Amino acid sequence: MNSLPSNVTIVEVGPRDGLQNEAQHLSAQVKIDFINQLSCCGLAVIESGSMVNPEWLPQMANSEEVIKGIHQRPGIKYPVLVPNEKGMQRALEAGAKSVAIFISASEGFNHKNLNCSIEQSFTHFDPVMAIARDNGIEVRAYLSCVMGCPFDGKVKPMVVATIARRLIELGCYEVSLGDTIGIGTPLQAQRLIQAVSKQVAIEQLAIHFHNTRGQALANIYACLELGITTIDAAVAGLGGCPYTDGSSGNIATEDVIYMLHGMGIETGVDLRALSETGNMICQQLNRINSSHVGKLYR
Ligand code: MG
Repeated sequence: MNSLPSNVTIVEVGPRDGLQNEAQHLSAQVKIDFINQLSCCGLAVIESGSMVNPEWLPQMANSEEVIKGIHQRPGIKYPVLVPNEKGMQRALEAGAKSVAIFISASEGFNHKNLNCSIEQSFTHFDPVMAIARDNGIEVRAYLSCVMGCPFDGKVKPMVVATIARRLIELGCYEVSLGDTIGIGTPLQAQRLIQAVSKQVAIEQLAIHFHNTRGQALANIYACLELGITTIDAAVAGLGGCPYTDGSSGNIATEDVIYMLHGMGIETGVDLRALSETGNMICQQLNRINSSHVGKLYR
């Protein structure tokens, strides 16, 4: 029997990564209620908004209002996605105490998503990190396309490892490794973690897997075997990837938690309360809940 962790931290990304990829736009008040309800589920991290230019991302246009409106409970992080210095300033003014930056492990996706090269992205991070340091704000990093890119194809684990190490050296407390198009399989996920954990402490790595091809839970399990203890997931499986045809979204948080609790791994999350929250937001979106567990609590 291999050794699995006794505790896992769930990073709930539904209110940002999830909702930004849903066709329907929600009001600030619905999002505030959603995040406040998630705050009562025992989650330690709830990604709450994005300061990406609203012209590119209309679903997140009300993020400032949302951040100002939520009840930020002590002990819970509410990271806000920031693309650049301007976004960082907006996040700060809205009262964010935690932010997330993002970059891709593939040039093709970085150009499509950020309109610049990977190296240019790093130069954009410098002023963001300086503002964060001056204001005591924690910075998380998303590294996307870690197991493949819709434009460039294969992505080498060594490339992922090098970028991840640079993000930690910049001052990020954690790097979230995103299988943005849900293309990876379990042994590939293990090879990735083996390569990256040679350059970054495994405690500073999170995994962010999409379920496009039904591999996410298997990939998560494979990474748990190697000591990963932080998992990104979106309640009700909200979201997806706008550049991938018909892609299903993020792995549903309820399904991840069901698997973890079933294996005796603690998360601190109240699965029933979380499922009810997932069902609530699906009703608001007039959408089917892609969580299997969520369906049981209807
Ligand atoms: Mg995602």
